[in-house]
Amino acid sequence: MNRVFNFSAGPSQMPLEVLKEIQNDLLNYKGIGYSILEMNHRTDAYYSINDESRKLVLRLFNLDDTYDVLFLPGGGTSQFSMIPMNLANKDDLCYYTISGHFSNKAYEEGRKFTKAEVLASSKESSYNHIEKIDINKIDKKAKYIHITVNNTVPGTCYKEAPDTNGITLVGDVSSIIFAKEYDYKKFGLLYAGVQKNLGAAGVTVVAIKKQLIREEAQLEPYTPSMYVYANHSKTNSIYNTPPVFSIYIIGLMCKWIENCGGVMQLEKNALKKSGMLYDIIDNSKFYKGIVIDKEDRSPVNVTFITPNEDLNKKFIEEAKEEGMINLKGHKAMGGIRASLYNAMPMEGAMKLAAFMEKFEKNNK
Ligand code: PMP
Repeated sequence: MNRVFNFSAGPSQMPLEVLKEIQNDLLNYKGIGYSILEMNHRTDAYYSINDESRKLVLRLFNLDDTYDVLFLPGGGTSQFSMIPMNLANKDDLCYYTISGHFSNKAYEEGRKFTKAEVLASSKESSYNHIEKIDINKIDKKAKYIHITVNNTVPGTCYKEAPDTNGITLVGDVSSIIFAKEYDYKKFGLLYAGVQKNLGAAGVTVVAIKKQLIREEAQLEPYTPSMYVYANHSKTNSIYNTPPVFSIYIIGLMCKWIENCGGVMQLEKNALKKSGMLYDIIDNSKFYKGIVIDKEDRSPVNVTFITPNEDLNKKFIEEAKEEGMINLKGHKAMGGIRASLYNAMPMEGAMKLAAFMEKFEKNNK
């Protein structure tokens, strides 16, 4: 079978073993006589899929049952509104750090529902580093601090959960979920669209401290019932028809992650894969990394440029001819971006590294 290496930032490459298992279940799910795609969400078969996926997510986060795991529609983007609507009232102070395009979007949305303030920002320098939080600036009355843990577009990453002086920490882990270990207990709420590290687009994983789930979200402006965490929590994420297929795939992906040795092993793999590319960038006068501070580099989104725009294009086209696709940087950033999520095999990164060396030799 001719499969390419897919460096897309999401939806992304999935492990072949998982795709094969899905293929098996597509016509006749575990011998029950019908497809996973035809499964009603109020059946014992679905209840056990739902429960298992939730248990596995909680286990990989290393969180206990003081947290709830919800499977919600609307992508990471709908969390930008759900978080302020559920964790704060209109006049409450909430902090955001602006470290990339998506944290900026989260902040812009948060401002509509709360008194949102920027605690640290690298927007002025095109997000080429992560601005540290000055803990002395934090007002104890704030409801939460929102950070984007890994910034998919510029390719930066918080190396650890920042200290928040006791304020609830909210983390967007969309592009780093289960690819790097953190002390997840430091977060009150974590969220991630699953289309990068946990399978097929269509569902967002939210892990939330149960004590943060309040019965009523903001009444002013009114919060639609689909946007109230409590409604999803009380119904085990079967408040309405859930995306059965994507939630089933989360379970398969979590088991695959455990079989690979868990998050600790996948973090080692990510550092090795990205390290190969960063080494080439650091030892080259041809390539230039987009992130200025090595400390802030993402282990899963490697961003760089060649000496000019024409060569960037040529790089992307020639890589595609050699079976490495989706290397174009995000439209807001340009350049080249290699996303190396969990399912990208070591051979994919090795092949790209070899291509980078060859391309430099042929074009400098
Ligand atoms: N946050 C981050 C860090 C992202 O990378 C993305 C999308 N790639 C989003 C949020 C938005 O997620 P979605 O497209 O699932 O709404």
